[in-house]
Amino acid sequence: MTKYPIKVVVVEGEEFEPSQLERLNKLAKVESFFDRSRTEAETIRRIGDAEVAVILTARMTANVMDSCSNLKMVACRSAGYDWVDVAAAQERGIVVSTAPGYSKIAVAEHTFALILALTSHIVQANEAVHSGQYDWRKFRRMQLWGKTLGIVGFGHIGREVARLGKGLGLRVIVYDPYVEAELEPQLNVEMVSLQRLLAESEIITIHAPLTEATVGMIGDNEFAQMMKRPIFINTARGAIVDEGALLRALPAGQIRGAGLDVFTQEPPDLCNPLFNEENVICTPHIGANTAEAQYRMSEMVIDNIEAFLEGHPQHVVS
Ligand code: NAD
Repeated sequence: MTKYPIKVVVVEGEEFEPSQLERLNKLAKVESFFDRSRTEAETIRRIGDAEVAVILTARMTANVMDSCSNLKMVACRSAGYDWVDVAAAQERGIVVSTAPGYSKIAVAEHTFALILALTSHIVQANEAVHSGQYDWRKFRRMQLWGKTLGIVGFGHIGREVARLGKGLGLRVIVYDPYVEAELEPQLNVEMVSLQRLLAESEIITIHAPLTEATVGMIGDNEFAQMMKRPIFINTARGAIVDEGALLRALPAGQIRGAGLDVFTQEPPDLCNPLFNEENVICTPHIGANTAEAQYRMSEMVIDNIEAFLEGHPQHVVS
């Protein structure tokens, strides 16, 4: 017997830990699919008559919501929710929940993995040594201490990146139009305009969500304002950066290199010329992929479902 007479469909994604699955099974009848749902029709078929859909990146369109008439809650296994039509959900009284901050340490650490790989030429130097070349002169490294780190978006991940940056002796400046610096006085960061951040930073890293306001927010105009030939990192969402402009900025010498964990289209077209650029280091959206973050995320998803069933939804997108 489950506590609530409802059905939860895990539309796609990794299995919950056995103890977590046991907890979920006590709450409701659970059905799980482990491969990605690639089409709207497949998502509709999987959700069927369920009341709760747990999703990773399945597009939750108005049509999916209308086709799954019992749907009352979409529980995202993520902090971002740009694949959910939130307005359509709200019109239909469907609750959309997320797992804010679950991966802040994981993504912040990965951001620094990309920064350090680029400043220390780890990928190229490793390839050289593995192929029998041992010439230290080719790999002049860039010291981090004393440099300026510009963070765009000062939420869970941006603040963790600031903390790590301070530990490495970086001066940290931040652009976030919705946050007051006083919120984190102990971090001792300076809030600046986007223009100042672009002009003064030796490292620029994006941690804003993908919204109508942030699509393409870093384009030709912004790369042209980068005066210090920075290292550019994006572990947020691909579409925040105009990939064509990024490709133009590299040969133009406007940036020193780029570290990318996210792409406009995922999986990306592997013929994308970005993947031929020597100074571009790419990872396949693994920022949040640590055991600790994944465990925390599953906990938060189940907490969110339980809170919803008990009548006090939490971590709801508004
Ligand atoms: P968050 O909601 O805690 O913080 C986002 C911050 O961005 C907020 O402070 C907000 O005020 C700010 N912001 C909004 N619009 C802005 C704008 N136009 N310019 C500058 N700042 C703006 O989110 P978070 O947990 O810090 O995550 C940030 C993003 O990272 C997520 O939206 C998600 O897209 C991405 N993410 C990626 C991975 C990964 O695996 N690579 C994992 C988790 C999250």
